[in-house]
Amino acid sequence: MKPEVVIVGAGPVGCSLALGLAHHGVRSLVIERSREIARESRALVIWPRTAELLRDWGAWEPLLAAGRFTTLFTPHDAASNEALLSVDFREIADSVESPGVLFIPQYDTVRILRERVAEHPLCEIRYDEEAVALEQDDDEVRLGVRGANGRTTLAAPFVVGADGAHGFVRHALGFALQGATYSTRVAIADIGIESDEGRRFPSPRIALDAPGLLFGIEYAPGLWRTIASVAPSVGDDDALAPDAHAKRIAHLFGEDARTSTVFWSSLFRIHRRHAPNFISGRVALAGDAAHLNSPAGGQGMNAGIHDTANLAWRLACALKSSHCAKALLVGYDIERREMQNDSIERTTDLATRLAVYAPPSLKRFAFAWMRRSLRARGMRRKACRTLGMLDGRYTRSPDVDTSHPLAGRRIGDVALDNGRRINEQRRGRAALLCCGDVRLDGIETLALAKPPKRWLLKHPSAIVIRPDGFVAAVIEKPTRARVEAMWKRAFCCASPLPGTEGE
Ligand SMILES: Cc1cc2nc3c(=O)[nH]c(=O)nc-3n(C[C@H](O)[C@H](O)[C@H](O)COP(=O)(O)OP(=O)(O)OC[C@H]3O[C@@H](n4cnc5c(N)ncnc54)[C@H](O)[C@@H]3O)c2cc1C
Repeated sequence: MKPEVVIVGAGPVGCSLALGLAHHGVRSLVIERSREIARESRALVIWPRTAELLRDWGAWEPLLAAGRFTTLFTPHDAASNEALLSVDFREIADSVESPGVLFIPQYDTVRILRERVAEHPLCEIRYDEEAVALEQDDDEVRLGVRGANGRTTLAAPFVVGADGAHGFVRHALGFALQGATYSTRVAIADIGIESDEGRRFPSPRIALDAPGLLFGIEYAPGLWRTIASVAPSVGDDDALAPDAHAKRIAHLFGEDARTSTVFWSSLFRIHRRHAPNFISGRVALAGDAAHLNSPAGGQGMNAGIHDTANLAWRLACALKSSHCAKALLVGYDIERREMQNDSIERTTDLATRLAVYAPPSLKRFAFAWMRRSLRARGMRRKACRTLGMLDGRYTRSPDVDTSHPLAGRRIGDVALDNGRRINEQRRGRAALLCCGDVRLDGIETLALAKPPKRWLLKHPSAIVIRPDGFVAAVIEKPTRARVEAMWKRAFCCASPLPGTEGE
């Protein structure tokens, strides 16, 4: 099989991209230098936006079966075991397919995604192969690979670096990460906790009276990740010494934690950094290779998977229409950098500042304020959308017509006139959604008689929806010519209007 896209790295992002590309009929080859999957828990949470993408690509059900899904996200005060606040994702059940959070350790996520990739006829995954050289011209990229059989060269129209924070591809492109590293160090540990009489501790839990961050989250029954900021006066070794862990465990779980075993621990610096560009010619970066966030907010891996939803349909279009390739990839670069800088970095930065640097009194005040504001329905929905990574808008994209406020945003999973929900009907494909009395002869459309008020549609409209679920354009009082123009702007000339494929 000659691959159309070579992906470097079979982490959660590289595997998601392979599945996303396969969904659009694109053949890919994933090369991965290590068959072993790191046993640290790493990213533990899959948010609703990520769930809808993984569902489109056929990977959601096995993940759901392996993890713990809950509709409530309820951080607790470690001292009292009382809820600090509760975000109930059922509040947005009218706009997402999976109104809840999936807790699952990253090693299970990667194992399942690798299995799906290995099974898919359009994907190939090769282990023990490491990318070591890269060059490109106007037509193809050549990747030097070192493996068991020595050194070989792979050629493909496109290469994507999904090779993580220290990845080879970003270095080969000459991109240095921009941004900042927080002054604090954090001690992260995976710990098994047993309580007296098998009592379960509420999760996640925060020690609000700790001077910096002290946080625990259960990622599998009895298995906890703890994250603690380390004071500047404490040496690296002392921060990971058994008595340092014991103190944190006592602080987080109290006397009830009868026994505990530290399986793994390490000291990290946390970053707010990104590459200056996410593309160079025919090479793109995705996931940690492109951007690094603080783990506060649990968005790092999820954001990387969102990159792949944007990149997959663009690469599929670029392969169909080579003269559009440059414009399509530039759109990826602009959109994902905007989302990273203006949305994801802001959210994780705010969460980090509050969690790590705020004094206990301010943290208590912030939780009290959030709890109070969640009494209003609008705020409850906003909290679900922000936490669920459903917010954010592409305002600078060359292929989105931002003249309407809905354009550049993800479309909610509304019910159509035929009784089905739009995500189920589209299943990760582009669509034209008509709202109100719209006639567009010869074009296949989805219909919605009464759009939600929050869409701010004043007239009968046609909405161009991209495969990644974002609105590319809202055309009020549409004509066929205006719809064709907006469709072309969104997809270049690579994708015909639905129902016009044979024309
Ligand atoms: C200790 C720890 C805790 C974390 N906690 C959280 C959390 O709570 N929430 C969260 O959202 N995120 C968390 N993260 C971040 C999260 O793990 C990353 O965002 C996520 O792994 C990014 O996925 P990726 O596929 O981009 O990169 P990676 O998972 O790093 O995967 C890259 C893959 O590329 C392979 N590779 C690298 N170089 C080459 C090469 N030259 N050739 C071939 N293969 C190569 C690697 O072997 C690896 O398999 C944590 C990370 C760490 C380290």
